[in-house]
Amino acid sequence: MNDMTGLEMQHGRLFVGRLPYKKDLITSVENFCKESSIDMAVFSIIGAVSSVTIGSYDQKQQVYVSHFEKAPLEILTCTGNISLKKGNPVAHAHIVLCDEEGKTTGGHLFSDTIVFAAEIELQELIGNTLERVYDKNTGLMLWKFI
Ligand code: ZN
Repeated sequence: MNDMTGLEMQHGRLFVGRLPYKKDLITSVENFCKESSIDMAVFSIIGAVSSVTIGSYDQKQQVYVSHFEKAPLEILTCTGNISLKKGNPVAHAHIVLCDEEGKTTGGHLFSDTIVFAAEIELQELIGNTLERVYDKNTGLMLWKFI
């Protein structure tokens, strides 16, 4: 028996591109999706940032805890998805970064995170569009399956 809730999706358009220099990573991805009429997608990014805001979810307090760091860091991996929140495409992304000594850090990705250089591949998904709604168990905005 499988308790996972999910939907079967089809592949839509596949994009590869570069994110703009000195702009916010999340905002750039969301703006691209808005301009390209993308409601759902999965994406991955590699590159570098000049500053980052990362954190994690405090499950007890049900709040995100984040911190800002201004530093040249490599994006070892950044993966995420796009779905709708209040009718707009929103990105949920996690990131792993390293400094010049190879020391890694990572977490849930927030704005402000400023791109130095970044390459993205983004796979559009076609199907019943998923909308993020408040989930009372977790306090998070999670996908709603009808
Ligand atoms: Zn997250």
